[in-house]
Amino acid sequence: MNQPATPNSAELATAIGRGERPALAEALNLLDDRRPSARAQAARLLTQLQQCRDTNSGHLIGITGPPGAGKSTLCAALIAVWRQRGRRVAVLAVDPSSPITGGALLGDRLRMHSSADDDGVFVRSLASRGQFGGLSAEVWPMSQVLLAGFDIVLIETVGVGQREVDISRMCDTACYVAQPGSGDSVQFLKAGILEVPHILAINKADMGAVARRTLAELDAALHREHPDGHWQVPVLATSAANHTGIEALADAMEQHRAALQSQGQLAPRRRGYQAYWIHKRLLEEFGSFGIEQLGGEDALLAQLQAQDLNLFERYEGLRQDLYRRCAGSGAQETH
Ligand code: GDP
Repeated sequence: MNQPATPNSAELATAIGRGERPALAEALNLLDDRRPSARAQAARLLTQLQQCRDTNSGHLIGITGPPGAGKSTLCAALIAVWRQRGRRVAVLAVDPSSPITGGALLGDRLRMHSSADDDGVFVRSLASRGQFGGLSAEVWPMSQVLLAGFDIVLIETVGVGQREVDISRMCDTACYVAQPGSGDSVQFLKAGILEVPHILAINKADMGAVARRTLAELDAALHREHPDGHWQVPVLATSAANHTGIEALADAMEQHRAALQSQGQLAPRRRGYQAYWIHKRLLEEFGSFGIEQLGGEDALLAQLQAQDLNLFERYEGLRQDLYRRCAGSGAQETH
């Protein structure tokens, strides 16, 4: 399935690498397109992008937390710090709220806080379609496109249930933003409902005693050793409104990435998620019968994880393989 990239996808990949907005928008739209011809083109583009960049480059960061905790304000404050440090930043704001039920979209709120004419910042909103157990399936490929053009890619979403789990697995670094005075986060963490984040930020530290109490509760509730490996989960106080604790939060994120890399976990973590994503998409499309056709879940995951990161064409190849097998037994692709 190793087709040469068309000049079109090669040019697009180069323009994305330079962070050119029209190219980024075109690529993200392509990933949203479900038609077979667009899928094939998207797979070529993603392969091209992954070949161009060092697979250890960039930093994919997830920010989750309950609505109103101050995620958008905090993201804007983080962006300001990263820009001062010379980093280029892209944000995927995955919004589970329906525009019909009201409430400004996360991405729009972020744009209100950020400088609109800064070329080093790119914000894209994505309405979550509630499929794929929480996050829509396009989020991860989109993050890979953005990683090709930016130093930091931030995925912001409201953290509930499966969506929060997905974001934690998908990103290099997962940060949970808690709201002072809300016992929910503590209860969820204790009950194992919340995936343990790599970093916990108690925002609105300017609220005084109530913020300090929440900080102490979360600090006590959390096992500081992250289940992922050798990482002590920091519990940090921030005030996005007063711009305090933001530098320390940015530092902690950078330290987590550095720890992953020095422990040789960064590339395996990314490969692991890619294998999981491919398996999940194939399972969605073909059911467990399809997975059995490919040798079963364990064998498929092991096989996918053993390969390098250029797996988008492999994924399309597996799909075509399954469609051929299904066609042999009477089924047909319905696109
Ligand atoms: P999100 O829903 O988690 O994205 O939260 P927003 O960023 O939209 O913030 C929700 C509300 O909390 C807004 O009214 C913000 O102005 C306010 N807010 C955000 N950060 C802080 C903070 O550090 N301190 C205080 N006091 N308010 C904040």
